[in-house]
Amino acid sequence: MLMDLWATRRSHLKKSTWGFLATPWWMLPILAVAATPGDEAWRPGSCKECAAWNATQAPVRIYGNTYYVGVRGLSSILITSAQGHILIDGDLPESIPKIAASIRALGFRLEDVKLILNSHVHFDHAGGIAGLQALTGAEVAASAASARVLRSGHSGPDDPQFGQLPSIPRVNRVQVIRDDETLRIGSLEVTAHLTPGHTAGGTSWSWKSCEQARCLNIAYVDSLTPVSSDTFLFTHNATYPNVLKDFEQSFATVSALPCDILLTPHPEGSGLWSRLARRDHGEADALLDATACRQLADAARARLKERVAKEASEQDAAVKGT
Ligand SMILES: [Zn+2]
Repeated sequence: MLMDLWATRRSHLKKSTWGFLATPWWMLPILAVAATPGDEAWRPGSCKECAAWNATQAPVRIYGNTYYVGVRGLSSILITSAQGHILIDGDLPESIPKIAASIRALGFRLEDVKLILNSHVHFDHAGGIAGLQALTGAEVAASAASARVLRSGHSGPDDPQFGQLPSIPRVNRVQVIRDDETLRIGSLEVTAHLTPGHTAGGTSWSWKSCEQARCLNIAYVDSLTPVSSDTFLFTHNATYPNVLKDFEQSFATVSALPCDILLTPHPEGSGLWSRLARRDHGEADALLDATACRQLADAARARLKERVAKEASEQDAAVKGT
């Protein structure tokens, strides 16, 4: 019976993998990273999407003192002030020289980056943080659950993708922040919003950036996708039992964020490149969309609902022996 359950579920998951063909590539699970399950050390080139993600991207001013300094497929956001800068996300280990080059190309000094933050602790957003901390001397701040992974380099069993994630370079100095905490560097103020679900420590960030008298709310919203290893069920598991409740809370949090400009760890998640292209063609406010956070949360809620329904129907089928 147990074998049947597993067999049914695994074949079902294979089918759903094909179903992902209709899904944008940046939302695909990152399961392909490790050829064998386990906590393998990161090796450049061991992720099939990584070369495309890590393509060089010239830095871009998003608005005011907020800049995109990431690679083409993975965001890294620089918020600047005369008293020091904040960087969010370090991308892949091999993204480090590209992020550093983008910061310098904008005319900023690496040693003026005082604080590094993270969306979630997977290798494609946190893999470069240790190296960027070494280059800048910055402090790193993260939620309690994220800090555990950053310090150890290993995701725990509470991660829905546990067992299929490569380890990340360990981060030495990590301070723990709490929900709604505002972090300050000089005149900069960035607020943490815990948005767990994709990982237990997932965090979104919000701040204001101004051009002359016009100040806009910028939200960097963490991934909200229910991606998992083959053996994890969102509807029934012992390793992250609150995952569905956490997701619901995160959708509510994201819907309510101050959000004139939405940014996401995978830039396509918020249509960044198409919006920037429209801006380049004269549509000055192409990045602005006050409904973007709510729409993102609604889409994520629908995706989770779909996943939960699949798990439920699969279990029904297994019980009936069909
Ligand atoms: Zn992830």
